[in-house]
Amino acid sequence: MKIAIIGIGTVGSAVATAVKNTGLAHEIVLYDTDGIRARAAAEDLGHAAAFSYDIKITAANNYRAIRGSDIVIISAGANQKPGESRTDLLNKNAAVIRDIVPRVMANVDNKNVKLVIVTNPLDVMVMLAQKLSRLPAARVIGTGTMLDSARLRVILSRTLAVSPQSINAYVLGEHGDSSVIAWTPATVGAIALDDFCKQTKTPLTANTRATIEHRVRGAAYEIIRGRGATWDGIAGAVADLIRSIANDENRILTVSTVDGVGAKSVAMSLPRVVGINGATKTLVPKLDKTESAALRKSANIIRKNYKSC
Ligand code: NAD
Repeated sequence: MKIAIIGIGTVGSAVATAVKNTGLAHEIVLYDTDGIRARAAAEDLGHAAAFSYDIKITAANNYRAIRGSDIVIISAGANQKPGESRTDLLNKNAAVIRDIVPRVMANVDNKNVKLVIVTNPLDVMVMLAQKLSRLPAARVIGTGTMLDSARLRVILSRTLAVSPQSINAYVLGEHGDSSVIAWTPATVGAIALDDFCKQTKTPLTANTRATIEHRVRGAAYEIIRGRGATWDGIAGAVADLIRSIANDENRILTVSTVDGVGAKSVAMSLPRVVGINGATKTLVPKLDKTESAALRKSANIIRKNYKSC
């Protein structure tokens, strides 16, 4: 499998390392408008590859080098500065996506390629990339709330004293401030979350839930305050997504793809089945009234932001 990564900044470099470590690519091509940065990253990563898998890792001067890519990951563009929201990046990064996607599409096989979008504000960038690429919605996949869902599972696992692997709990909607924590469909093992709490005498009070929601939504702000940017979590999410595509695992992941047509269309995260043909099936979990209303509100915010750019 050949994988191209466009945008080799903090996130792109971490993504390249994580993708290399899956061992699933025989070739990784790195492209950045800052060619020196991309070349240095390819050099460093190539040395690291000598300790793991035999992978050809190169930096590209132009888009011709991405020909034959099965997956193109877009992680280029401005990141959040301390205190900035993802939406603050809207116009800057819309310009970056408008620059990149046509160049990518001129050099890949549109019958096969999958685009993986990482750039924020994620859902709007997915809508833009899908429109510009004219690819089927299933093959323009944003990492969406994969990271937010992982954060929720990890925080819950500490509260419930059970492995995050045994928790099925999703964050839905926008990868941003209007994300929706879906408590109603959450399960631990095969047991509804509320039942698990009763059986194990671990009450999840309204206050505890509110604190968890606050920590999940605030995680990126907190990490950016502490280390200037976030990269490890998203790199893990991208590697997981690549695994599900490359191995045709059909895992259920909360990725963002475009649903609907015309004025009603929107990209946001819902649990979707992800395999070799992309995010082919969307599942709609049972939500209570408050969660459903919050999800509609989140979709409207994404549509409004998309229209504004
Ligand atoms: P960064 O500033 O470290 O790197 C961005 C890179 O993009 C730079 O190397 C820059 O030269 C390159 N670039 C800019 N315009 C380009 C273009 N037109 N073509 C090719 N390369 C271009 O930023 P970062 O911390 O790596 O963040 C990158 C993006 O990832 C941001 O939008 C950030 O918000 C996003 N992000 C998303 C998630 C997520 O969960 N989806 C998590 C973290 C970061």
